[in-house]
Amino acid sequence: MVIAKEISQVKQNVREWKKQGLSIGLVPTMGYLHEGHASLIKKAREENDRVIVSDFVNPIQFGPKEDLATYPRDFEADCKLCESIGADLIFNPEPCEMYEDDFHSYVGVNTLYEGLCGKSRPIHFNGVCTVVTKLFNITEADRAYFGQKDAQQLAIVRRMVRDLNYNIQIVGCPIVREEDGLAKSSRNTYLTPEEREKATILHKALEEGERMVNEGETDANKIVETVRNIIESEPLAKVDYVEIVDWNELQKVEKIDGPILMAVAVYIGKVRLIDNFIVDNSIVIEMV
Ligand code: AMP
Repeated sequence: MVIAKEISQVKQNVREWKKQGLSIGLVPTMGYLHEGHASLIKKAREENDRVIVSDFVNPIQFGPKEDLATYPRDFEADCKLCESIGADLIFNPEPCEMYEDDFHSYVGVNTLYEGLCGKSRPIHFNGVCTVVTKLFNITEADRAYFGQKDAQQLAIVRRMVRDLNYNIQIVGCPIVREEDGLAKSSRNTYLTPEEREKATILHKALEEGERMVNEGETDANKIVETVRNIIESEPLAKVDYVEIVDWNELQKVEKIDGPILMAVAVYIGKVRLIDNFIVDNSIVIEMV
């Protein structure tokens, strides 16, 4: 496996692979890899001749009061995991390699970023779109793999690719969970043992919301209220948002009559966790 720190190294490998007519799959990550990331890399491995994993804590998607400095990192372990799955290249640039001092160009998707996580993280999705665009251009990937764990990100990247005619296929992958239902996340390591135990309330509450949808409840406010009440029954939990939006435009819905995303963001102590489920024409895509 090639370990690339510089853009030119990645481009050189890509040029060789393209010359041989090989397909390329890209898995963008911020490192500290776990089984959620591994599921994306495995899928990319199945579907492409060459697999690139980017491992980069992207500074421009963090707000000034967010956890950029403390975001967990373990590049050695990430390399081992990528190699064990059979990735061909891991790209781990320094921030100055991606953003030179005179960097001025940003990519963004209007409207879709305004609700859900965008409300409390206003610059986040423009930072994501910009780094993802750079990674698409650097790797010339045929396919890129994103987790449904970050459902708003998946929706925004899909829209960006469609609107701006990128030659890349976006592949969405289901949420990988711990045995007790907590969605796997690099940020779970911030939780104290007590918080970790209580964090399962997100999944429990969403399971109830999903059960209501599947049993035919169409009043979105009723479901939101039920899910919010379950989460708020846990004293360590503080809700950032609980929302049901339509899965295409990410706008709030009152009545469920098409594909929807139910998403929550909740502080457990100081740690902000997100989780969701999608119901697409009454076919449940996620939640096991
Ligand atoms: P991150 O390193 O948190 O930026 O995540 C990189 C990619 O892995 C994103 O597309 C995430 O949605 C995806 N991902 C993170 N956690 C999970 C999970 N538990 N299940 C599936 N995909 C995940």
